[in-house]
Amino acid sequence: MDCCDVAIAGAGIIGLTTALELAARGRKVTVFDQGEAMAEASRAAAGMLAGADPENPTELKELTQLSLSLYPEFLERVEFLSKKSIPIRTRATVQGLHEAPRDARTLSEPELLGRAPGVHANGWQFVQLDETSFDAWDLAEALPSAVRAAGIDLREHTAVLSARCDDGGAEIVTVSGTFFAGAFLNATGAWAPVLEPALPVMPRKGHMLTVELPGCVQMDCVLRTPQVYIVPRGGNRYTIGSTVEDAGFDRTVDPLRIHELFSRAADLWPPLREASIAETWVGFRPGSADGLPIIDQTGANRWIGAGHFRNGILLGPGTGRVLSQWMSGRRPEIDLSAFRLGRFVAASV
Ligand SMILES: Cc1cc2nc3c(=O)[nH]c(=O)nc-3n(C[C@H](O)[C@H](O)[C@H](O)COP(=O)(O)OP(=O)(O)OC[C@H]3O[C@@H](n4cnc5c(N)ncnc54)[C@H](O)[C@@H]3O)c2cc1C
Repeated sequence: MDCCDVAIAGAGIIGLTTALELAARGRKVTVFDQGEAMAEASRAAAGMLAGADPENPTELKELTQLSLSLYPEFLERVEFLSKKSIPIRTRATVQGLHEAPRDARTLSEPELLGRAPGVHANGWQFVQLDETSFDAWDLAEALPSAVRAAGIDLREHTAVLSARCDDGGAEIVTVSGTFFAGAFLNATGAWAPVLEPALPVMPRKGHMLTVELPGCVQMDCVLRTPQVYIVPRGGNRYTIGSTVEDAGFDRTVDPLRIHELFSRAADLWPPLREASIAETWVGFRPGSADGLPIIDQTGANRWIGAGHFRNGILLGPGTGRVLSQWMSGRRPEIDLSAFRLGRFVAASV
């Protein structure tokens, strides 16, 4: 009989970080993905670990801190297991705000120009944040190999069609047959409601582009405002993002949206006017009804980890850690009440 301790639907960052944590606790894990691992939101991302963004919801603070504390060890482990490198591309973010928090130190113009030569302040107040970023494509290349090297059974092109769970375990029907597991995790990102009807998660489409500047590197930090961000990707490449659209699972790349992003970025950082577009793409953030993740037990031997919206790369290792603790019968090390499904029921009565 085809079986394991834990079956996970979805091989994005949430499914795979949880799988790695469970495997480290000695659990036999199988992960199914309907397509290729790390080919959806987790690869589309800009790769900013934007834990210091003053615009983040306060409810994310503890999970953010946990995740950031795990990141160095997580990346080291993935690099070791996969034998692939995930270089840190930036170690600071310069963020423009409508109004900086009262206790924040705003950058003077010479400081701003020292960090991001040529930037146009355009009325924003800028603060410097201690944040790092990496290229999400590097993680997308390495993480599936790391997972396999850790002994996890990763089955690509194997959609989960349904999962029935009770006290005895989980019966999972996939396109290639039925599978049995001790427990089941739905980590299917924006697709999570397919397996969990009525779940308040929907795709929030984001357009992105990477441009190439002629000449050498001119900026080595992330430059971000509420309207646009510019992320150095090494050499003379910069990734620019992103829109947030409610357009279902429409994979069309709209040239008008790309043009709009490019112009916003070039208004903020005029050296980009010389750049040429190298790549464009879209991705589907899993957005929940209140923009916060959903991390919960939804029945006997059944869990959900979805809805990480704009911060799933940041929150991946932390989410994997708490889900693996919970699924192994331990108390998660941080309070997850803000992420439980009951909040939507409470909000609707
Ligand atoms: C344009 C863009 C920019 C972003 N930038 C950042 C950033 O800078 N920093 C940050 O922290 N976050 C960022 N994010 C958000 C982040 O990418 C997501 O929150 C995160 O990747 C969600 O991970 P996930 O594993 O839940 O979903 P996904 O990565 O989408 O993985 C879900 C997986 O489930 C699979 N699946 C679906 N249905 C089934 C099924 N029935 N059976 C089996 N498999 C199934 C899919 O094929 C997919 O591989 C960005 C997102 C986008 C789109």
